[in-house]
Parts: sequence; structure tokens; C-alpha cells
Amino acid sequence: AEDDPELAEAVVENVRRYSRVFSDAVHELLPLFGSAEAHPRDPLDVYLEHRLLLEQRGRAAGAPRTPQNQFPPELLRRFELYFRAPSCSKPLSPRDLRAGSVGSLVTVEGIVTRAGEVRPLLRVATYSCDQCGAETYQPIEGPTFTPLLLCPSRECQTNRSGGRLYLQSRGSKFTRFQELRIQEHSEQVPVGHLPRSLPLHLSGANTRQAQPGDHVRVSGAFLPLLRAGHAQVAQ
Ligand SMILES: [Zn+2]
Repeated sequence: AEDDPELAEAVVENVRRYSRVFSDAVHELLPLFGSAEAHPRDPLDVYLEHRLLLEQRGRAAGAPRTPQNQFPPELLRRFELYFRAPSCSKPLSPRDLRAGSVGSLVTVEGIVTRAGEVRPLLRVATYSCDQCGAETYQPIEGPTFTPLLLCPSRECQTNRSGGRLYLQSRGSKFTRFQELRIQEHSEQVPVGHLPRSLPLHLSGANTRQAQPGDHVRVSGAFLPLLRAGHAQVAQ
């Protein structure tokens, strides 16, 4: 905000898009910051190391990867990126959020009334094919997704072998996910009205930060929630 106020303003107005842009930039810059070995090695680290090695050998043999078989950047990234709202931005009550704020970085205040369990959320699904053995990756944006069934690899498409895809949890990427519900403070409720509440979706390092009863001020992207199936109709 100090360096480039226009950029900061653009980020506030379209925070999801800039999260992707900044993640790409950080991903490109990270190798320049030395080669400190990441210590907490989990199964995904081991898996990726192995796959990258295989890929290098494959490249040497001159076999180009099809777009579906390329590693999506989300799978390789082991960092999280969050924007903090400018310190001058005024915190809003859940009641003040309007359609005009959709897509922007907003700060809301309230009291936590419910804290859901922390669950793993699938971010990149990795499948392997039972016919050709090729791997297919599916980046996942929302809380629900439609699993891929048929192998899109060139080999399976050309031979029409009808390769089936199987989800491999070991090669997939998960993040922690938690749902909180906050309710506006009683002094923000107009006389004769019921207090309004707002569901919050937290991920990664932002989970397990608040308990029911806590007064919180939270910055995040204000987004409409697409409900799947019957819940959408009922809502
Ligand atoms: Zn296949």
C-alpha cells in the first residue's frame, strides 16, 4: 500500500484474482531465496520429489507431457498466501455487507457463535489410469467437485482403451479447512431486529484461531456461496 497505492486498491477490489497472480509471482521468486531444505517432509513431498525426477527423465527421453498430465502449480506449492486488509479500512458488521462488496477484501467484526471441526479439504486431486498408468491432476476451487472418470491421456484417447481413473490420496493435495460462524455485536443490531450472522471459511494456517465466544475481526474475500444439490434449492 505504501509502495503502490493503486495496486493495493486493485487487490482489495478483486482479491481472488490477485491471490492467484501473487501466488504465481511468489512461486517464481522462491528459488532465488537460496535452497533451504524444507524440513517437515510429508508423503506429498516424497511423492513430488519422485515424480519430478521421473519427469526430468521423461523429458530427457523427449516425451512431452500433455496439458492434463502437467503438474498444476498448486500441487507443487508448499506456501500459503493471504492478504491483510489495509489498516485504514473500517471493519463492517455482517449487516453492512452488500452485493457491491462481492469479490473484494472486506473486514468484518463479530462474536464467534460456532466453530466447526477442522477437516482436510482436497485442493488438487491426483488420479492414475488403470490402462496406461498416466496421472491426471484436477485443481479444485470449491468445497465440492465432480470426480474425473475417464483417462484423458493421449495414449488412452488414441487407442480408445477406455482407461478408468482412480483417485490417489497419497499424491493429492489437501489443506486444513474450518467453518466458523460469527454474529454481529448486540450494539450493531437495530432495535426490533434479530442479530445477523455470517459463515466464514478458513483454510490452512488460519484454522484453529478462534473459539466460540471470541470477539474477532476478520479480513477475507466476500464471496457468494454455491450450494450443491438439494441445499441450493432449500436455501
Ligand atoms: Zn489412460
